[in-house]
Amino acid sequence: MNLRRREQNVRRTFDLYQQVILDHCKHPRNFRELAAPTCSAQGHNPLCGDQLKLFVVLDGETVTEASFLGSGCCISKASASLLTESIKGKTRADARKMFDQVHDMVTTGKMPVEAGKLAVFAGVHKFPARVKCAILAWHALMTALEGEKEPVSTENEDV
Ligand code: ZN
Repeated sequence: MNLRRREQNVRRTFDLYQQVILDHCKHPRNFRELAAPTCSAQGHNPLCGDQLKLFVVLDGETVTEASFLGSGCCISKASASLLTESIKGKTRADARKMFDQVHDMVTTGKMPVEAGKLAVFAGVHKFPARVKCAILAWHALMTALEGEKEPVSTENEDV
């Protein structure tokens, strides 16, 4: 493959990822409050002004429902939207593994094979200022599943 074609392919993949992020940003999935969540957590990213609240129904160890409300930049909304889609049917242990994978992806660009749709966030590692936007919903999820009452803020996190 010549260099030019490879560059075109990279650009096409990047455009596709941007389209997925834009779609989830403009039409966030599960953007509502759950009637009877078993756990919830708030997330705040003061660097960008992203705020969200995540609602989860946990049945034993399995997430059966997830939704969110909030306002913020496109990446934070798309990330929360994709999170609520990806987390349904997963266990708490799965959620922790997914958090680690997303964290890895947005900080290093390394893409795990099983990333699925979440792979769209691998490109974020090129924009360090947006890493906290992409990871915010995941921090909130971890807090919700751990049952901590403190709102999470990315302010004091090393990301
Ligand atoms: Zn943001």
